[in-house]
Amino acid sequence: MDIQKIGIVGAGQMGNGIAHVCALAGYDVLMTDISQDSIDKAMSLIERNLDRQVSREKISAEEKAASLARIKTTLTLTDLGPCDLIIEAATERETVKQAIFEDLLPHLKPHTILTSNTSSISITRLASRTDRPEKFMGFHFMNPVPVMQLVELIRGIATDEETYKSCLAVVDRIGKTASSAEDFPAFIVNRILMPMINEAVYTLYEGVGNVKSIDEAMKLGANHPMGPLELADFIGLDTCLAIMNVLHDGLADTKYRPCPLLTKYVEAGWLGRKTQRGFYDYRGETPVPTR
Ligand code: NAD
Repeated sequence: MDIQKIGIVGAGQMGNGIAHVCALAGYDVLMTDISQDSIDKAMSLIERNLDRQVSREKISAEEKAASLARIKTTLTLTDLGPCDLIIEAATERETVKQAIFEDLLPHLKPHTILTSNTSSISITRLASRTDRPEKFMGFHFMNPVPVMQLVELIRGIATDEETYKSCLAVVDRIGKTASSAEDFPAFIVNRILMPMINEAVYTLYEGVGNVKSIDEAMKLGANHPMGPLELADFIGLDTCLAIMNVLHDGLADTKYRPCPLLTKYVEAGWLGRKTQRGFYDYRGETPVPTR
């Protein structure tokens, strides 16, 4: 199927990056959010990120202008009805995603492919509550979207081949690489990454190390480009907790129990970079460890 217009639900960390790469690849983009503030922040971030690409001579000033012109925004979810492909990138909560699909469904064209950027929620379950499980799949970008090369494509039990091929063509056109994952909790990347981050939080909780020593140990000792706690702040601690809960519930194994300290940070509203505080405090010039 020839996809021309892409609708993006959620203008947060992921939504703005997805809008950026889709517009740069020549797709018309319509992005929605429940918050005008999120939309405004997303548009100024997209402009700054495109500027950075211009200054590094990765794209021309004309490409930047054309990309920005291709992105439209709306506060009305149902305006996304005429899109050929929907990428839902709203908050990682199943009730939120389900309500979005319920509201959107009556307005979609019959051919529209529905996808979710969820990090962990069952694609098959989300799909089963729509009128088009065969045209539903997981379209999982990595953060930050303009920089990271991978997109995980997750087929639900009913996803048909045409839908998979159409999504694969979009991944190709935006210049990224797809990795296919089966629909089991947290798919591939987060199934492996999130227990490591959770274990780093346990290491902190049990006093084996502090924020600085844990991050330094993994950077210098395992050659990771970022420490696990720094990475958790980058992803968002609410998202990390949500993914651990999905692993814990979905695989029913206590080895996935979320660390109580991770829960405490989320309860405090210390969600990482997006709220300026998490395992580090980002309110000053340089990040300061909070433990
Ligand atoms: P975020 O908190 O930065 O953004 C979520 C946005 O969704 C917010 O702007 C919020 O206002 C909006 N929203 C909430 N309810 C909505 C609704 N009913 N309609 C429209 N918009 C709504 O979160 P994020 O990090 O961008 O994560 C979004 C999704 O992407 C989640 O499913 C998450 O699991 C997934 N994801 C996140 C990462 C990551 O590293 N953060 C990586 C891959 C995938």
